[in-house]
Amino acid sequence: MPLPPLTGHHEVRRRLADAVRTDRLPQVLLVSGPAGVGKQRLALWLAQLVLCEHPGGDPCGSCRTCHLVDGLAHADLHWFVPLPRPKAGDADKAVEEVALALADAMEERRTKPLYSAPDGMASHSIASVRLLQQRAALTSVEGGRRVFILGDAERLVPQESSQEAANALLKLLEEPPTRSLFVLTAADPRRLLPTIRSRTVPIRLQRLTDAEVRGFLQSQVEPALAPQALDERVALGAGSIGEAVAAGEERGKALHAAEQLIEAALSGSAAVYERALKQTPWSARGEFTAVLDALADTLGEAARSAVGQAPRRPLPPSLARHRDPAALLQALDRVADAREAAAGNVNPQILLAVLGEELAEVL
Ligand SMILES: [Zn+2]
Repeated sequence: MPLPPLTGHHEVRRRLADAVRTDRLPQVLLVSGPAGVGKQRLALWLAQLVLCEHPGGDPCGSCRTCHLVDGLAHADLHWFVPLPRPKAGDADKAVEEVALALADAMEERRTKPLYSAPDGMASHSIASVRLLQQRAALTSVEGGRRVFILGDAERLVPQESSQEAANALLKLLEEPPTRSLFVLTAADPRRLLPTIRSRTVPIRLQRLTDAEVRGFLQSQVEPALAPQALDERVALGAGSIGEAVAAGEERGKALHAAEQLIEAALSGSAAVYERALKQTPWSARGEFTAVLDALADTLGEAARSAVGQAPRRPLPPSLARHRDPAALLQALDRVADAREAAAGNVNPQILLAVLGEELAEVL
């Protein structure tokens, strides 16, 4: 799958394109800005721009090089992302391990271009820095520029434990090989070592506009969002595509839990629905009300479908067969009651058990 399009940041793009055109692009950049606004996507855009066979204000998007970058398959583009810490004790083995993990991570990005924030434990270990150093020492495969992107650079582990690796990285950033470009990205650049930060030229990205986030969700999220869900996601995103997409994942979880409860209620077997209850621990109240909202949404879609309108997203199979709008509306009513009760100080698990019984009765 190709990369999702770069959204917004037109002024920054224009300045970078000017710098490329007049050959004044600094070799080491630090792109900072709120999480999910497209810092690494901008870095990839810049990689495409400097590697494109048809120089201009934007990558042409159609030459061989642009296609290779778009498929994360360009031999001179090296994108480093935080990885689990390697297990190998031996330094060379650890570098091999990191190279494999990075290849896996890139394969995942190719198949799922809308990635979420890295796992809390993932980092750029000393082995990652060694790998970067090794790759930087090689010559260009395609004969042109080489681009190194270090995403979430604040995840660089403190390098004090290995002075050698720290010095190697600093030296690399201080004297980058000819025709190489290094782009570091960080949501919080203050967490970078000052010695590293001082070797970079800062580029600051702002939050996107709501219209930009909306446009992205409309063109990239499948299945398409219903108008109300789209409004919610734009609001939750607050100028960040990453946040808006992640909010959808939370919603995805809530919808899944709601479907499980409906399936259990429809099967009529107490054992099945008890099991469904056990499978979903209601740790946070917000999570619980999200499930109630998802229940209401799913039942509402089923009611639309039962009166002959097309549902706006696929329904759980047992509910899709449900053709009694009156029963579905009654079920919706019960969910609304539970939603009201949830605002008070009730135990979510008990509330959901009662609701499950009620749904089993009316559906
Ligand atoms: Zn091109």
